[in-house]
Amino acid sequence: GFVVIHHAVLGTLDPSAVYNHPEATAHPFEWALIHGGFVLAASIASVVAWRFNEEQSFKDSLTHLPNRRLFRDRVGHALARAQRRPATSAVLFVDLDKFKDVNDSLGHPAGDELLTTVAERLRVVVRPGDTVARLGGDEFAVLAEDMAGEDDAVAMGERLLAALAVPFVLRGKELTVGASIGIAFSVPGDTVDDLLRNADVAMYKAKSDGKGRVARFEPDMHAAVMRRIETENYLRGAADAGEFTLHYQPIFALRTGRLSGFEALLRWQHPTRGLLGPSDFLPVVEETGAITTIGSWTLGEACQQLRRWMDRFPQAPPLSMSVNLSPSQLFHPDIVDIVTEALARARIDPANLILELTEGVMVNEGPVVVDRLQSLAALGVQIAIDDFGTGYSSLSYLRRLPIDILKVDKTFIDDIADQDRDSTVARAIIGLAQTMELAIVAEGVEHHEQVAELRLLGCDFAQGYWFAKPLHVDGVGAMLSIATLNDRWLAHVGP
Ligand code: C2E
Ligand code: CA
Ligand code: CA
Repeated sequence: GFVVIHHAVLGTLDPSAVYNHPEATAHPFEWALIHGGFVLAASIASVVAWRFNEEQSFKDSLTHLPNRRLFRDRVGHALARAQRRPATSAVLFVDLDKFKDVNDSLGHPAGDELLTTVAERLRVVVRPGDTVARLGGDEFAVLAEDMAGEDDAVAMGERLLAALAVPFVLRGKELTVGASIGIAFSVPGDTVDDLLRNADVAMYKAKSDGKGRVARFEPDMHAAVMRRIETENYLRGAADAGEFTLHYQPIFALRTGRLSGFEALLRWQHPTRGLLGPSDFLPVVEETGAITTIGSWTLGEACQQLRRWMDRFPQAPPLSMSVNLSPSQLFHPDIVDIVTEALARARIDPANLILELTEGVMVNEGPVVVDRLQSLAALGVQIAIDDFGTGYSSLSYLRRLPIDILKVDKTFIDDIADQDRDSTVARAIIGLAQTMELAIVAEGVEHHEQVAELRLLGCDFAQGYWFAKPLHVDGVGAMLSIATLNDRWLAHVGP
């Protein structure tokens, strides 16, 4: 409008000031309109581009869901509305439980595909006015306004969980991913940051309570999470400060009663909290990714310790060393090199190293898992399935993967000598291992009745408090000295 008026008025009063064209000087109004048209077109293009950029900066490019910025904005509006008219809004934080495994084993494109499918499922489950956003990585959030009550939001959380519990099909494979959900409700006076932080805290709680569940925020959760963050910070320094140690639990051959080897179990000598077991810190270690560093240290140290004992007790029969590997260690591209190096440095025969993995890793049977296990088996190390029987029902992987040993979980061993309880599961597992020619280790043996029963069933090895608790290195040294004195290499079980 300005251009049209400006050009028209000046074009009439002093044509040569605006136009240098005889045609234009003759028809100043028409030319003023033409100029105005050009300016208008340019403005429209600029506004469209601006809107498009704006849209982009509020949208997640992979899933097209609102991003963190827009989500915060919407939460802010919801809180402002709630000030005028009391209403409960809820923020639900949704975090996938096994996203990292999928990404590591099937690759990033598969991970992206999974995230897109998750976004679709979440969108379908919420009510029309609710906002579903992707906050980053595998973290999603839902803003539900005008909830009838807190139970309403929890019900929505359950619906979201159910939607994500349905198996996903990726690369022709079915896999379950699962999620943990934290819910926080708006309280008058809350800021956006408060509400989001509370939902995050509740989500942490849902995860640490065993994943695959919904937790609603309660004020005292905050302290627990702070403690966790403190642990996380400490962890970074602990490895450097040499605060990690290994304890060794002896494993016995049931037929002869002889000591057959040890399982290395990680401990953290915490400067103020004392000696901590894996359950106090391992989940955090795994989440922070420090597991690869600590895991490599464990492998190296366990092998070196075995070497030291072999040097000190040359008359001992061959002893094995079992080391636990967490899934992320198996997925680490250098794991084969790390194991090779640990064996070489300690001059350990690969056959004497046993790597323990839980069933969960085997089940998805991604190409990476198969490849890693085969490479490790090719080194000559033995592979054991830890906590066998607690994970999944599919046993098909047992035949396809290079597995040597099954460790039957304590829960099944507990029942084995109990007259009132059913020991069929343990019996079936031992029978299965025998037909598949796998060695079998009974875990958590606490009573001699169990030992007798396991021997009857033909179980090969056993480990548990009845024989020995996990011991400090010096304790093992003492035990080996006594065995040497007796020259029998027998411990608690007579032949
Ligand atoms: P796990 O591999 O199943 O190890 C056996 C656990 O059972 C050990 O607990 C051991 O102390 C305990 N245990 C042994 N015998 C008995 C018994 O007779 N009765 C009872 N009640 N418990 C018994 P711990 O040392 O607390 O380790 C817990 C878990 O932490 C291990 O379970 C393993 O999954 C993990 N872990 C330990 N060290 C490492 C490590 O270096 N790396 C990795 N990735 N995981 C580790
Ligand atoms: Ca183990
Ligand atoms: Ca176990």
